[in-house]
Amino acid sequence: MYGDIIDLLKFIKKSPSPWHTASAASEQLLNAGFQELDWTEGWELQRYGRYFTKVYGSSIFAFTLGNGDLTAKNSLKLAAAHTDFPGFRIKPEAGVIKDGYGLLNTEGYGGAILYSWLDRPLSIAGKVVLAGKDAMNPVTELIDFARPLITIPSLAIHMNKKINEGVALNKQKDMLPLAAVFGKENGKDTAKAFLDDLLVSELAVSKEDILSYELNIYPYEAGCQLGVAGELVSSPRLDNITSVVACLKGITETLGAGLNIIALFDNEEIGSRTKQGAASANLMQLLERIYTCMGYSREQMWQGINGGFMLSVDVAHGLHPNYPDKTDPTNRPLLNEGFVIKQASSQSYACDAEAVAMVKGLCRQGNDIPCQHYVNRSDMPGGATLGSIASALVPVRTVDIGVPILAMHSARETMGAADQISLCRVIRELFRY
Ligand SMILES: [Zn+2]
Repeated sequence: MYGDIIDLLKFIKKSPSPWHTASAASEQLLNAGFQELDWTEGWELQRYGRYFTKVYGSSIFAFTLGNGDLTAKNSLKLAAAHTDFPGFRIKPEAGVIKDGYGLLNTEGYGGAILYSWLDRPLSIAGKVVLAGKDAMNPVTELIDFARPLITIPSLAIHMNKKINEGVALNKQKDMLPLAAVFGKENGKDTAKAFLDDLLVSELAVSKEDILSYELNIYPYEAGCQLGVAGELVSSPRLDNITSVVACLKGITETLGAGLNIIALFDNEEIGSRTKQGAASANLMQLLERIYTCMGYSREQMWQGINGGFMLSVDVAHGLHPNYPDKTDPTNRPLLNEGFVIKQASSQSYACDAEAVAMVKGLCRQGNDIPCQHYVNRSDMPGGATLGSIASALVPVRTVDIGVPILAMHSARETMGAADQISLCRVIRELFRY
């Protein structure tokens, strides 16, 4: 197995929620000698320093300060990715008792392929907030049950003979996970608090101390390699832990000149417009804090930003063998043929010709790192990423890139193992520049 794939699958296991992704990233950064900064305190930065800071627990920025003038062209280099993934979140007062069964009331998060979540062992991870020393200082605890706990059973084909012709799934009616069987006797309304009971025993706290939570459901089964030569990877959350891992490797394994930053944002799957998302003022705040801490004026900061460059890193659509006509006639990314440069004249993917040329230049500089192009079919709008959003707020030349995958937003996605290597290589090349 490629080392990069072992690292990827290990990280995916540690990332069952955006808060866990940020926490696993901070652990890796600490191990690499990065110093943690508190977003809410004043900073003192040193040349050749390596730093990171978490924002509201689920977004994280890391940066290194190499040599050279930070106002010079190409001294600012950024790579951005997202920490969240589509699925389900557990609502407050979530316990539902029906015919002696215990279900959890959930809502959708982002654009998941609903049927792919059926009939799988699922688990629960996120954060629970407990009473603290006073009203305004509650205490947050991360929680990951890390064991199969719940499932969303599909309906038997005998009860819907047309099931293979496609079924509309209703998130409120069809997608509530089954968590318990209490039976006729015990399945009373009093059993509704079973989720609270579960949290109490897992965290070893008292029920009164649990004030709130944000919990998501995740597919429990781990990722694996498959294919006759092990050339494929099947795993939950390839979107977008492939990119998170490649960004972390890039920033920890190099120390290039100038200012090198990775920005791992939460909430891309729901549009990024949140206090910890890419549509917030966070990245601009980070830049202003770094430049001013390093003794530069605002005018000089804008010089640095206007000469900067960003890779927005997120998965791309690979050509699907069973649906080849869904891919553009001339831009047809295959698995294992290299990472993908995504372009759209609508700018749903951030790009311009110079920025694309710069990525290709990095590929050449890195001994011909393989890359391919993706453009949507002209009759299909396709998706969007955080690249255009982040680069509208921090106006640097930006290109969207990522590994090509199949079944994007499924509970389990498929990619080519070699593409993770080419993605890691190009990000390293950027930060080495
Ligand atoms: Zn994504």
